[in-house]
Amino acid sequence: MGSMKVLAFRLCAGFLALVLISPRPLRAEKTDRPNVVILATGGTIAGTGATSTTTVGYQAAKVPVEALIQAVPELQKVAQVRGEQVMQIASQNMTNEGLLKLGRRVNELAAEAGVDGIVITHGTDTLEETAYFLNLVVKSAKPVVLVGSMRPSTAISADGPANLYDAVLVAANPASADKGVLVCLEDEINAARDVTKTNTSSLETFKTPELGLLGYIRGGQVAFYRTPLQLHTSQTEFDLVNVQKLPEVAIVYGHEGVSRTAIDAFAAAKVDGIVYAGVGDGNPSEATEAALADARQKGIVVVRSARVGNGIVARNAEVNDDQRDFVVSDTLNPQKARILLMVALTKTQDTKELQRIFSEY
Ligand code: GLU
Repeated sequence: MGSMKVLAFRLCAGFLALVLISPRPLRAEKTDRPNVVILATGGTIAGTGATSTTTVGYQAAKVPVEALIQAVPELQKVAQVRGEQVMQIASQNMTNEGLLKLGRRVNELAAEAGVDGIVITHGTDTLEETAYFLNLVVKSAKPVVLVGSMRPSTAISADGPANLYDAVLVAANPASADKGVLVCLEDEINAARDVTKTNTSSLETFKTPELGLLGYIRGGQVAFYRTPLQLHTSQTEFDLVNVQKLPEVAIVYGHEGVSRTAIDAFAAAKVDGIVYAGVGDGNPSEATEAALADARQKGIVVVRSARVGNGIVARNAEVNDDQRDFVVSDTLNPQKARILLMVALTKTQDTKELQRIFSEY
């Protein structure tokens, strides 16, 4: 009995010594494969339907990150993959607090020497907004890739597993570094600033109209053909260090017969900024231009964007922006203009500075 105890003690002590002298750090194991962390936030990629043919009326944000990873064993061949559940939501419920939480976690992980790339699973509805937010506030050149799916995990031909595999391939590839935050679905790589969801239900919904995608994934290979020129990630003047709360920015949609009611209501609610999704070249009607001018007089920053979806919103074209002290959104669509205005307002209220920011980012 005594000698058994001694033997057991020696085995334990020997094992402990082996662990202690092991040169490998315990947290982020360095292997020949890159280390990729998957941050899960919910969406259809984590959705479940009642049957394999349920592609409408399923529940988003149900499957935990560990199950998403286990469903694609091939991931471990390209990278040392681990997951974290940051939140579990449908992305129409993403809040400013949620953006801050995610942004901080991405920055913490990107600063770790043992992390080579980060993948974020996200609902597709607002994926472009979160991607652009991270594109502005992540302080790292390491690859950060957003991915989602259009069919729930339980569907026939679910697109989530292949999209996740592609996203990990991209995040693990050194060629993806310093290209800003990337969006990766259906074998295509798009830039966070320019990509948008273009179709309510098609699998190939994420497009960068006119400006074009950055690259493809084909046969397990990542191929880039261009890189974004607007400032991003480690190149930006923004960070989250002293940001407790993001400013409130609302969007008002322009149309024939538009009234000033929504603008006045947002002004009365004391929002920090209003993005006007104007018709054509970001044009307000006479009524809404007067309402926006009144809002500006009250200190609310006004950005003119366009509901058109493509092209530059020209300063001082049909609206005298200098006189009104408005800012124009460059090529950013209204939802991206809102993200940039929120982030920019954490640094400055000066409209000349804000206009410079809108032309650089
Ligand atoms: N509306 C949900 C979301 O954005 C599901 C849509 C999707 O992920 O494709 O999270």
